[in-house]
Amino acid sequence: MDAIKKTILIIFMLGVSPLINGQDESADSTFIRAIYDEVLGNGECHENLHYLCKEIGARLSGSEELGEAILWGESLLKKYNADNVVQQPVMVPKWTRGNYENAYFVSNKNMVRSRITALGGSVGTNGAVEAEVIEVKKLEDLEAIGKEKIEGKIVFFNRAMDPLLINTGNAYGGAYDQRSKGASEAAKYGAVGTLVRSLTHAQDTFPHTGAMSYLDDVPRIPAAAISTVDASALHHALIENPSLKYTMELSCTSYEDVEQANVIAEITGSEFPDEYIVVGGHLDSWDIGEGAHDDGAGIVQSIEVLRILKALNYQPRHTIRIVLFVNEENGNNGGKTYAAEAEKNNLIHFAAIESDAGGFSPRGFSFEATDDAYTNYKSIAPVLEDYGVHMSRRGWSGVDIRPLKNDYVTLIGLIPDTQRYFDFHHSKRDTWENVNKRELELGAGSMASLVYLLDQYRLGK
Ligand SMILES: [Zn+2]
Repeated sequence: MDAIKKTILIIFMLGVSPLINGQDESADSTFIRAIYDEVLGNGECHENLHYLCKEIGARLSGSEELGEAILWGESLLKKYNADNVVQQPVMVPKWTRGNYENAYFVSNKNMVRSRITALGGSVGTNGAVEAEVIEVKKLEDLEAIGKEKIEGKIVFFNRAMDPLLINTGNAYGGAYDQRSKGASEAAKYGAVGTLVRSLTHAQDTFPHTGAMSYLDDVPRIPAAAISTVDASALHHALIENPSLKYTMELSCTSYEDVEQANVIAEITGSEFPDEYIVVGGHLDSWDIGEGAHDDGAGIVQSIEVLRILKALNYQPRHTIRIVLFVNEENGNNGGKTYAAEAEKNNLIHFAAIESDAGGFSPRGFSFEATDDAYTNYKSIAPVLEDYGVHMSRRGWSGVDIRPLKNDYVTLIGLIPDTQRYFDFHHSKRDTWENVNKRELELGAGSMASLVYLLDQYRLGK
């Protein structure tokens, strides 16, 4: 931390701030009730999500659609009378899926098609790849099987998300390495392609894409996700015929990075205008589906927070910043650029909230924060219990806001009910129809309420 920041922080610490045990519970209850009345009675986030999903649609980094979404977000925030609405330039990768992705194998003289989709960032197959398949459960299995048996084959990573974990995000995290690192790990043993069981609990025919990356020093081999139904079919076919031939074709291409932008809008603070509370989600999505839960929901909820506070004529003490981040899915350059610019300009962020776990019923918040901030939150949190917001835990906040992490900032992730999130995540099923209006609005209400509490009580200060 530089000297200026240190000085500013010391001033904050000496400054008079309301004590948490001085919470004005009745004022808080009244204002939070007004927030929920506004969002449930006059909410616009569901309609805004409709526009984002149906008029713009999927919006991968580098695409024209993301460019359109940036302009849409900017004009919507202006329409809601935000202060200082700006675009912050961000360099993002550009990758396209191309117009075909096919896979099949022949078993008992029948051609069996698999529903696959390229992982984001994969190379194309440059023609078709045809090879035998070796099925594994974990990256570590590759070493045990050895190069001799893997060379020239397609490695099929078929480890399911653990159904016993209650937190589906943890189940996702536990299966994630096959998708993110599988291709390069398999290429070290001479594999010519990889298939990854889709990261979902659903048993269906929709493949789920997602980010992967290559190591520099191994050949880049094509990588695709296969639907869970087709993964099971392949698994059974391999038991019957371990030397069956599998064919896959992917037409994806990578291009030079292009410039796009985060969108930033503010409600200027009255007492501490130079101290920021960020509220955000990510505007980019994968290129299949409509990016409705991931993360159109977080975007329209963040914008709704601003709309609600404006509608209630709330004058915040601190500057509230709504940030529509870009490139969360395949690079996080939006989050990294935002944090780097904040650092460069010595901006003090005392809190940031992200919604990026789906537009489902809110349950609570997850904190990366100092002990003081967390304890202070716990002491005032009961005021949210009537709204079903009763969970608080230490843990992951959000990909976009994470680069802001330092010793004093309070980073918070909205925790919705996530039991069905991975049914939709990164697949064609992530559409507007699958987001419930009321649940989406309750999420926005819980975020606006938290912003209000952070603003009133300077948690962590
Ligand atoms: Zn997301």
